[in-house]
Amino acid sequence: MAIRVTFWHEFRHEKTVEKVKSIYPDGLHAYLKSCLECDDIKITLAALDDPNQGITDELLENTDVLMWWGHMAHHEVNDELVEKIRKRVYAGMGFLPLHSAHHSKPFKRIIGCTGNLTWGRNQKAIVWNLAPWHPIAKDIPLNFQIIEELYSEPFYIPKPDEIIFATWFEDGNIFRGGVTYRRGLGKIFYFHTGHEEVESLKDQNVQRVIKNGIYWCAPESTGSYNGDNLHQTEPILK
Ligand code: ZN
Repeated sequence: MAIRVTFWHEFRHEKTVEKVKSIYPDGLHAYLKSCLECDDIKITLAALDDPNQGITDELLENTDVLMWWGHMAHHEVNDELVEKIRKRVYAGMGFLPLHSAHHSKPFKRIIGCTGNLTWGRNQKAIVWNLAPWHPIAKDIPLNFQIIEELYSEPFYIPKPDEIIFATWFEDGNIFRGGVTYRRGLGKIFYFHTGHEEVESLKDQNVQRVIKNGIYWCAPESTGSYNGDNLHQTEPILK
């Protein structure tokens, strides 16, 4: 069965900023969907201004991997929805936040951090592949170059399980730009690319990393255990 991905997108910049609209006329979520969807991956688009802020209970229940892009309206996301997302991740749903989702409510709630970092102008960047043996780095060269918004250390996150990519920036900064966590039964991969005013999401290596991330974040099993608290009423020994 194909991995059921929901890509939640704030989808505001493309409506209000001409430059962004010209790069992604239908939204960066629709653009990435057209690049990533295949027999193994089916993507449902969701946006902040949709009913229920794009995510109904039914959609959440039928999502294997939730992708997230937000920037200017993190504060508008409903706290109740954020808590539902956290619970689903703890029960096994994958979570793949991109770029400025480091400041999104779901990222901060699931990981347990402020997500603060240092940021600056768009510039040349080299993404270094620190874990070429890892499934997320499959078919990714040892390094590749993009234009991206400066994100820099210190990045206020708990120690990641794995640092898959670290990015060097032209201004001299470095950033742990591709990190994994496990929270509950769920797997999380944060990747820093995807500023709305540059075209890094059109880079083939960036798209491959995101696709690899979807495969890696997908739940490993569809078994019946969902992490619920169980009350045993009968002894096991007969
Ligand atoms: Zn940005």
